[in-house]
Amino acid sequence: MDKRYDVIIAGAGPAGAQCARDLAARDYDVLVLETESEEEFPRQSNKSTGGTFPSMLASFGIPDDVVMHFTDKVVLESPNDHFVNQQAGAVLEFADFKRFLVGDGRNSGAEYRFDARVTNPVIEDGKLVGVTYDGSEIAYGDIIVDASGPSAPLAKMLGVSDLQRENQAIGVEYELEGVDLHGDGHTDLTDAMMLRLDHDIAPGGYSWIFHTGEDTVKVGLCYIQNDSHDRYATDDMGIDDYLNHWLETDMRFENATRLEDKQHRGSAHIQLPGKLSTDRFMAIGDTVPTVDPIWGEGIHKAMRSARAAAVTADKCLTENDTSAENMSTYDDLWHTNVAPRSKARLLIAELLYLAPNDRYDAFMRDLRKADMNTLKNANEGNKLALVKLFKPSDIPLLLRFAKQWYRDGFRGPS
Ligand SMILES: Cc1cc2nc3c(=O)[nH]c(=O)nc-3n(C[C@H](O)[C@H](O)[C@H](O)COP(=O)(O)OP(=O)(O)OC[C@H]3O[C@@H](n4cnc5c(N)ncnc54)[C@H](O)[C@@H]3O)c2cc1C
Repeated sequence: MDKRYDVIIAGAGPAGAQCARDLAARDYDVLVLETESEEEFPRQSNKSTGGTFPSMLASFGIPDDVVMHFTDKVVLESPNDHFVNQQAGAVLEFADFKRFLVGDGRNSGAEYRFDARVTNPVIEDGKLVGVTYDGSEIAYGDIIVDASGPSAPLAKMLGVSDLQRENQAIGVEYELEGVDLHGDGHTDLTDAMMLRLDHDIAPGGYSWIFHTGEDTVKVGLCYIQNDSHDRYATDDMGIDDYLNHWLETDMRFENATRLEDKQHRGSAHIQLPGKLSTDRFMAIGDTVPTVDPIWGEGIHKAMRSARAAAVTADKCLTENDTSAENMSTYDDLWHTNVAPRSKARLLIAELLYLAPNDRYDAFMRDLRKADMNTLKNANEGNKLALVKLFKPSDIPLLLRFAKQWYRDGFRGPS
């Protein structure tokens, strides 16, 4: 008779591997199925810049040796201005980070199968009892977790995730050496994570330079193909063309060279979440729209959603009740602990990426004038703090936003 697991997880990204770590540490029988081969892991899925903060490292016991570089400030850049916020951060070597999570989970007893692409849920007598993988193989479990990122095969088939194509943000990044971190007219990017708002570089989105030590950086950009993208984009340019254009025109990259085999790319959905769980099932990480809509922080959120799923699985297995109602504990935890105020943050993101370049320059000046409390509250979606950052000259922007909102509705599941 086939072994029956307490929990089966599809995908060994930050979400899936962290969920396995938490469950194995509590002695549950966990199986993780990962589509990539173990020898290459993670080649295809080495998609992330890996920018994060000490709170993530401390909360999840992540060792310093998966950190490429510790940073001490976050810089926001606009076409002609910038704003510096002193804040400690860490740029991960994303591949090492993923391998650490897998190794640590295994040490606690989690079982991993690589080369195991999950394709379908297995339903018997109307009940979800397992998954098919690697063609026709079947694994049986009491709870199934989809942590496969935006592909979300199980969540889609079970009607849980409603990721919509028009809400998909795409990103690409290269690693470079020989970069001038103190380029003329720019702020010093030594030990910085820099995010740039500039439609000439990333139409309808943002770009970044994260320092990774000496004269090396990760440099990339991302956008959603929204109204703002259509307004500022050049017809025949793809995302790599935009990145190459930036590398060719910004003097900081004049003497820089690309590091071989060091490019990362992927996507995530920026929209409101719908249902996150059902009978015997949860969807975590980028399988549901977990990534922060403003700055694309997805790692810490994926890890927090993993922990919320592990807590829920523990509760439901202990109570021997894996009904949709009991599993919805996960939805509650998601909305309170993983992505609180998701609607407000989505609203800020939509407004931010709709604003024109000259408003970005003015925004940097406003940020310098605002007190830290207002900034912190605005970033968390506090409406009063947000209002403080608007001026009468923003009325045309707000009207354009209202028009778009009226026409398309809020980015959310139908
Ligand atoms: C270019 C780029 C830069 C980014 N930079 C940052 C950053 O600086 N900071 C930050 O916090 N976030 C960043 N993010 C977002 C962050 O990387 C993601 O939010 C995070 O990786 C989500 O983790 P996850 O485990 O949900 O999904 P993923 O990382 O996508 O992992 C999914 C795993 O499932 C596997 N898989 C897929 N399909 C199947 C299947 N059918 N069966 C079995 N396995 C499957 C994949 O191989 C992969 O290992 C970035 C994203 C991109 C694209």
